Amino acid sequence: MWTDVEDWGTPAASGRRDDPWTPDLEAFVAGLPKAELHVHLEGALRPTTLLDLAHRNGSEFAGLDERWLAERFRFRDFRHFADLYTTCTDVFRGPEDFARAVIELAADLAPQGVVHAEVTCSAITHHRDRGIPFDEVVDGLWAGAEAARRDSGVVVRFVLDHVRDLSTEDCQRTAEWCVRGRDRGVVALGLGGFEPGRPASLFSGAIRWARDRGVPFVPHAGEAVGAEGVRDALAFDPVRLGHGFRAADERGLVAELTRRGTVLEICPTSNLRTGVVADLADHPARRLRTAGVPLVLGSDDPLLFGSSTLGEYRTAATGLGFLPADLVAAARTSLLASLVDDGERSRMVAAHDAYVARWAGAVAVGPAPHSGGQRAPG
Ligand SMILES: [Zn+2]
Repeated sequence: MWTDVEDWGTPAASGRRDDPWTPDLEAFVAGLPKAELHVHLEGALRPTTLLDLAHRNGSEFAGLDERWLAERFRFRDFRHFADLYTTCTDVFRGPEDFARAVIELAADLAPQGVVHAEVTCSAITHHRDRGIPFDEVVDGLWAGAEAARRDSGVVVRFVLDHVRDLSTEDCQRTAEWCVRGRDRGVVALGLGGFEPGRPASLFSGAIRWARDRGVPFVPHAGEAVGAEGVRDALAFDPVRLGHGFRAADERGLVAELTRRGTVLEICPTSNLRTGVVADLADHPARRLRTAGVPLVLGSDDPLLFGSSTLGEYRTAATGLGFLPADLVAAARTSLLASLVDDGERSRMVAAHDAYVARWAGAVAVGPAPHSGGQRAPG
């Protein structure tokens, strides 16, 4: 057990009796080797880069400033968020824009202890809205990933997501791009966009086509609809689910997630900002954690939400009741759930374990009080 870790940062040590996020804990978690598995490239642009690209590429943001952005990104509801997101994708034009976004994101993630990132990119949106060829998107992403590894030490891989509002033909196109893009860092097919009325099963042909060719499926599900969204997505045997917390509405489904070892990517700040969760005190992640469902933490869209990977760990500690041992477990789970080969996964997990042992003085590495088992991605 993590007794050494659990003993850290007691209220007495921090001087603030009610704040579990002590300076010691923050320093530890900032350096804790982890993967960021739920972040969108378009929603992770630096504000200055969004405005710069808008200016150079002639989008509707041209000439506006960061203050205007802050005003604009005051959400009304989930639909409003989806609309804003589409507007954000509008600033991308050529491969150099995608490369720049990847390089800057990796530079932002590195100081947060992120060693591996699986970044979602909506290539289909760029193609449909502005006619950017797939190869230009993925060449830019890959150039960015290579520079990011060299400059920041962060390994960046990509999830190409289908946007639910679009057609089944577009989903099939994205599935084919995932297969073609595997030589340039594409590791999975995702599914995003406005969830109500557009379940994963609507796109079953393309999802199965990709899976038959070895491309895993990592959809958003059970975020803006109830447990039925999770159950629907589970039919495709995803190794991870984006959000997925509405599974907590159905006891049998929680047990099934635990049994399967399906990892849920929890993004508490995003959930609050989009309004799908009203209060962290009621966030279903609390129940899912105690039920032993494997959880990881993700920033989703830092540009839109003011979130960060490290910030989500802080929020989990201060708002979701995560103990330090749970934070360690979330980071370790993120590495185990990464879509990398077994050798790379073992190397990352060993570095994580060595870091924890060095900080905590722990000899044996064991599970957090509530952590469930997660299966290795297939
Ligand atoms: Zn997301």
